[in-house]
Amino acid sequence: MKKFTTKNELQHYLQQQRLKGKSIGFVPTMGALHAGHISLIKSAQQQTDIVVCSIFVNPTQFNDPKDLEKYPRPLIEDIAKLENARCDVLFHPEVHEMYMSGEQWHLDIGALEHKLEGATRPGHYQGVMQVVFKLFDIVQPDKAFFGQKDYQQFLVISKMVELLNLNVQLVMCPIEREADGLAMSSRNIRLSAAERKHALILFNVLEAVKRDFNITDIARLKKHALEQLNNEPQVEPYYFEFVDAHTLEPVNTYSEKAVALVAAMVGSTRLIDNMLM
Ligand code: AMP
Repeated sequence: MKKFTTKNELQHYLQQQRLKGKSIGFVPTMGALHAGHISLIKSAQQQTDIVVCSIFVNPTQFNDPKDLEKYPRPLIEDIAKLENARCDVLFHPEVHEMYMSGEQWHLDIGALEHKLEGATRPGHYQGVMQVVFKLFDIVQPDKAFFGQKDYQQFLVISKMVELLNLNVQLVMCPIEREADGLAMSSRNIRLSAAERKHALILFNVLEAVKRDFNITDIARLKKHALEQLNNEPQVEPYYFEFVDAHTLEPVNTYSEKAVALVAAMVGSTRLIDNMLM
């Protein structure tokens, strides 16, 4: 695997590959890689010739400095996992390679930014768009691969690509789960053994509402889901919502394109999950 820490060296290498007629697939990550990330690499390998994975813990998308500081950064293990997955290229820049001091960014994407995750993490999606725009500009991928796990993030990035007319195809890949159903996340390693058990309520509630989605009133389903989340020890929900899969507007009656999204603190770890209904 080729490893680059500077934009210039990466761009030079990718330009050579493009001249050879190779298509470029891109998997942006913040590292602490797990099977969810590797599934994105595998999808990229099936659809493109050269797969670039980036590992960059992006400071501008964290609204809590403690969360940024605590974010796991096991680079040596990550490199081994990428080599094992036969990823072609790793880009892992330092913060100063990506940002000049005092740099500003704002893109108006309308209501999408402020719903759900955006409401509980102000500024988060501006930071996400800022870094993804920069990474797309450096890598110039033909296709970029993202997880359904960060459902709203996919819609936000799609909107940015549409508004700025960026020449990249976005691919959404399914959520990889642990054997018991917990969505894989880099944050899961922060859970204690007890919290890990309680965290399963997120998946269990999503499964239950999916089962009852077309037979029970949506307001009742939501109320019951929130009760179950609130009753689980060490779990404090931020939201549980049924929304339209494209607009994220609330869904109050049965719809074939609904998605249920949940975010909760489990102990001191913030987890999200979702399921298409
Ligand atoms: P992150 O490193 O958390 O920024 O995630 C990098 C990419 O991996 C994003 O596109 C995530 O949606 C995706 N991802 C994270 N967890 C999973 C998972 N459990 N299954 C599939 N994709 C995931």
